[in-house]
Amino acid sequence: MTTPAQYDGSCPPEPDAPSVGHPKEAAAGFTAVVKSMAHVWGEAGLFRGTRALMLLNQSAGYDCPSCAWPDPDHDRSSTEFCENGAKAVAWETDTRKIGREFFAKWSVAELAKQSDYWHGQQGRLVEPLVLRPGGMHYEPISWDEAFKLVADELNALASPNEALFYTSGRASNEAAFLYQLFVRQFGTNNLPDCSNMCHESSGSALGPTIGIGKGTVKLDDFEKAQLILILGQNPGTNHPRMLTALQKAKRAGCQIVAVNPLAEAGLLEFRNPQEVRGMLGFGTPLADVYLKVQVGGDAALLQGIIKALFALDAAKPGSAIDRAFVAEYTEGFHAVQAAIEAVTWEFVTEQSGISREQIEDLARRVASSERIISCWAMGLTQNPNAVGTIRDLVNLMLLRGAIGKPGAGLCPVRGHSNVQGDRTMGIYEKPSAAFLDSLGQEFGFNPPREHGFDTVDAIRAMRDGKAKVFFALGGNFLSATPDTAATAAALQNCRLTAHVSIKLNRSHLVPGRTALILPCLGRTELDRQAGGVQFVTTENSMGVVQKSEGKLTPASPQLLSEPAIVARLASATLGARTTVLWNALIADYDRIRMHIARVIPGFQNYNQRVRQPGGFYLPNGPRDRQFTTPDGKAHFTTNPAPTNRLEPGQLVMMTIRTHDQFNTTVYGLDDRYRGISQGRRVVFMNAEDIRERGLKAGDVVDLVSHFRGETRTAPRFIVVEYDIPRRSAATYFPEANVLVPLDSVAEISNTPTSKYIVITMQRSA
Ligand code: SF4
Repeated sequence: MTTPAQYDGSCPPEPDAPSVGHPKEAAAGFTAVVKSMAHVWGEAGLFRGTRALMLLNQSAGYDCPSCAWPDPDHDRSSTEFCENGAKAVAWETDTRKIGREFFAKWSVAELAKQSDYWHGQQGRLVEPLVLRPGGMHYEPISWDEAFKLVADELNALASPNEALFYTSGRASNEAAFLYQLFVRQFGTNNLPDCSNMCHESSGSALGPTIGIGKGTVKLDDFEKAQLILILGQNPGTNHPRMLTALQKAKRAGCQIVAVNPLAEAGLLEFRNPQEVRGMLGFGTPLADVYLKVQVGGDAALLQGIIKALFALDAAKPGSAIDRAFVAEYTEGFHAVQAAIEAVTWEFVTEQSGISREQIEDLARRVASSERIISCWAMGLTQNPNAVGTIRDLVNLMLLRGAIGKPGAGLCPVRGHSNVQGDRTMGIYEKPSAAFLDSLGQEFGFNPPREHGFDTVDAIRAMRDGKAKVFFALGGNFLSATPDTAATAAALQNCRLTAHVSIKLNRSHLVPGRTALILPCLGRTELDRQAGGVQFVTTENSMGVVQKSEGKLTPASPQLLSEPAIVARLASATLGARTTVLWNALIADYDRIRMHIARVIPGFQNYNQRVRQPGGFYLPNGPRDRQFTTPDGKAHFTTNPAPTNRLEPGQLVMMTIRTHDQFNTTVYGLDDRYRGISQGRRVVFMNAEDIRERGLKAGDVVDLVSHFRGETRTAPRFIVVEYDIPRRSAATYFPEANVLVPLDSVAEISNTPTSKYIVITMQRSA
């Protein structure tokens, strides 16, 4: 029988093959409404589910726990949500519950044999649980005992740096601020977060070039744009309400250019379910130009567009480059010009898979547009050259003067709902000296200065025995991270693993010597503390800080809020060493926000401003052409693009989500827009690549990744013929995470290269 210590963390093979139909050519519409209601009413019931939806993204309700797409500043509708927001709410408001009886019945080893979808369908966690050394089953533990157990393990460490404190992007500003304060009072900056795996590359690219690691656009800029570039992003599944913004842009005459290896329904056409014509099946075509770039070919494409822009401007000076903007606001123009001159068209077309004619056509569209927005997501950030690629995009936007004016700017589209806010609150392994000075002054202590571990380095530290306690504020670390077997072994190498969670997930099944599951309130649920009902705050993808107040009855009276869990853990661990009145902060979250207002710039009058409907915008210098770099200029950069070479038989694979999935949470087994149902173990391939390997659609193959002489294998994927460039392939995560080597990371950002994995395949035995 498998014991927990032997489990490699992999998702169990599926019993049945998925069925494969035709991909859709339009997103949303009537089906999206039907699916939303089926999920919400099916899991939460008619009354609780309907109430939950009516409060979603409303000023008096709560912020969507799914993605970070912003809500309109004014005039919100009463149904300000999408299918995936509804699924997230259904998942959280689930009326099913799992407590001691469930865990007495199911051992950890038996739970590991179930799918991620099955885990999520069992119901809400309702009481704290412990897996004791050598134990096979989680069993109940009191909150006091749980906090003492963590505190004892932490205080027994030889150094605070032997502990890791992970954060998922769900944590509110208040929870995140308290968490990093506790961790720094404990004595370490080991604060890896999910941002390390998604938009770290964006922050690394934007900070040095424009002075802030965030986007510069507001939601209403979309209506004013003349051209919107969408690179490496699939809004139809991952940020569905962005489609409404794109529809408004199109109706105002904007052109949309999609750059993505796969043809995605949400980039082709949007049937707005809030409009009668959308419900009747009439859509708004979106992408005017769709460039199916090769996986890993974005940098070459961007350099080709820039090359074509220089050529247009040389033919007619001033026609393609905003010389006045470049002269007044930027540095480094001539170096970029020289570097791009050296880039050959042969390199650009071969690496991107896009013809010179198409690139020159796009360059003419760029040159004739004054107001351009560039959006991107994981397709750009999870490549070896991610930071250079995003800096090339910044170069493009600077050449057009398309930053810091209405209808123009940079838009890294964030995944989890408060991932941007958590970083603002100090969830960062490399905090600035200014932030630490301010924190130390406010609370009268000396925060540690040594930088901590990010996510990849945290896994290495656990693997190597340098970190012995792993604490996760939310998330599903095992399924979110690369190299599943390595991560599972690393977690199982710890003395203690502890997860603050809403539902059962696979990370609970790769326990340290002792493991805890600490159940918390969801975003939708009423948070009552000694000082009365509390609300929390979040920051969306466009830097708006807003209030979020749960109203539903909690799934169990035993649940604690995330701020309360952090505060009680801090009290138990730090005892008399702390300078913080943790209980007082938890009694009234206004007190937490008063501290935040004094520590973090931009939060003055926090408590007053966040109570205004819609909240408030954080300062963003580049939005007003105040580039907050040391010299006050925006910086062009030169970013030599690597030459991607494949051996015969190799493909480049990227991992993607299904439409029934948000990050690691699997709401269902369909990927409706891509024509897949009742299964997830598929590999999307070009028809020629399938034939070249002597395969056919429906064959079952094992995928083998290749990195520095090492191989990793993921068994039993069904071959699906798809509209994807030659030598490119796509598979779903977390199933394919096992193929992503821990050491395969983006330069500078250390982000796992989940969108660029070299694979071969062989027929399954
Ligand atoms: S777009 Fe994102 S934030 Fe908005 S409702 Fe959908 S999942 Fe939630």
